[in-house]
Amino acid sequence: MFDYIIIGAGIIGSMVARELSKYECKVLVVEKENDVANVQTLANSAIIHAAYNPEPGSLKAILNIKGNYMYDQLEKELDIPILRCGAYVVAYNEIEENELDRLADIAAQNGVPEFSVLSYSEAFKKEPNLSSNVTKVLSLPTTKVTYPWEVAFAAMENAIKNGVNLKLNYQVTGIKKTNDYFEVEINNQDIINSKYLINAAGVSSDDIAKLIEKQPKFLIKGRKGEYFVIDRRYGDFVNHVIYPLPTEAGKGVLVTPQVHGEVLLGPNSIWVDDKNHPTTTFEGLKYVKDHSKTLINNIPYDRIIRSFAGVRASSNHEDFYIKESEEVKGLYHLGGIESPGLSAAPAIAEYLVNEIMQVNNKYELNKSYNPIRKKPIPYYDLDENKQKELYAANNLYGRIICKCERITEKEIIDAIHGTLGSSTIKGIKKRTRAGAGLCQGGYCEEKVMKIIARELNVSPLEVAYDKKESKLFTSETKVVKK
Ligand SMILES: Cc1cc2nc3c(=O)[nH]c(=O)nc-3n(C[C@H](O)[C@H](O)[C@H](O)COP(=O)(O)OP(=O)(O)OC[C@H]3O[C@@H](n4cnc5c(N)ncnc54)[C@H](O)[C@@H]3O)c2cc1C
Repeated sequence: MFDYIIIGAGIIGSMVARELSKYECKVLVVEKENDVANVQTLANSAIIHAAYNPEPGSLKAILNIKGNYMYDQLEKELDIPILRCGAYVVAYNEIEENELDRLADIAAQNGVPEFSVLSYSEAFKKEPNLSSNVTKVLSLPTTKVTYPWEVAFAAMENAIKNGVNLKLNYQVTGIKKTNDYFEVEINNQDIINSKYLINAAGVSSDDIAKLIEKQPKFLIKGRKGEYFVIDRRYGDFVNHVIYPLPTEAGKGVLVTPQVHGEVLLGPNSIWVDDKNHPTTTFEGLKYVKDHSKTLINNIPYDRIIRSFAGVRASSNHEDFYIKESEEVKGLYHLGGIESPGLSAAPAIAEYLVNEIMQVNNKYELNKSYNPIRKKPIPYYDLDENKQKELYAANNLYGRIICKCERITEKEIIDAIHGTLGSSTIKGIKKRTRAGAGLCQGGYCEEKVMKIIARELNVSPLEVAYDKKESKLFTSETKVVKK
């Protein structure tokens, strides 16, 4: 019997797991995918917003501000990358300038620690490609960018080190509650029991509620966003996150520098019925292209290396829905965690666990809790002496598998066998960046596939790109043998 089962290992489930690992309780995270952070947490803008537009007093505002501040501490504890680039929200005419002033007022009410309104010429000095149609700018220096799935990995790895259990490929298909515990059905067959249940299932959180509640109090409607990625070698045309003014459809198409140097263009905002299979479209990407060029000049569209889409977990509530179920005691919902969900994630986890522990105050603090997680430094970021030392100990550091990102065979092997190891090509990409560069895996995917097969002692034909049905090869070829 577990004390807590958390459904979903996105950034929210991972942060909640880490927060619960501070207590002496038995926690299990169940995730339907074969990796952590494979849904919303994989496909977003990666921005830790400054809280310039959520409604003052809302959970979105309170937890965004707190989360933004908490990332500074997490950077030290979890060794996660943060780019402190700041942001500019731009206005194009007098009406929009009034709206910009209103946003500055909201930022003040929300307690954003630093912000200022700049003239075009002031902003231009720091952002030389800013469109000359811009008339005024709201500058938000506390806006940061991170690497969202690495944050989720880091939190989950740290939670596991502190005693949390994680089961991948575990889809919750049924929930019952007897007098004092939950029976959670996995993959339509096994049953696991827990005293409490935490629903962190992202776009599917309303489907989880429907498994046990007669009248769920929130509904999720998917809102798709599509993006272009610009090669990191051509990312220096922009220095800040550039936002247009927000509208009812969200924060709009942005230009966003990334921690490894790429730049994201997007997202658009399209309501979708299918919450689980986001795809890019010609029209969607054209919209992104047309709107990004109104913000910044000299965007190198000929250096786009990838496009992708994600679906936001928008709900019928304006605010995050973070509450114990009104129908089923002991079931806690984290519903409608759309933007600024990444920014607020650490604060959401702290808020929920504080609420829970106020009621269930029987759990002692975990005296051996260690907040620190260390990430190996990429081989090619080390100084020459350290590289020579590592190579002398293991010559697989001398075999570069991903030439674009300079990732060695030894680093790939370590990622396969790590605390949160992976057996898929995409999993290795998320952990090491092998395949994240200019050629997008054209050169290294087959090599990574063979290393995974060798290390896990399976046929290369069994190795999947991502989901288990996404095998690269269906039968033997001259170079790929069983
Ligand atoms: C296009 C877009 C742009 C965004 N930009 C930003 C941004 O710049 N800044 C920001 O702060 N926020 C942003 N967000 C929001 C942010 O990405 C989300 O709020 C955050 O990732 C939500 O995390 P999550 O863990 O709730 O959801 P997810 O990452 O989706 O995790 C939920 C998990 O639950 C699992 N699950 C679902 N059903 C089951 C089941 N039955 N059994 C077991 N597991 C299950 C899923 O597989 C998934 O892994 C953006 C979102 C999108 C889509």
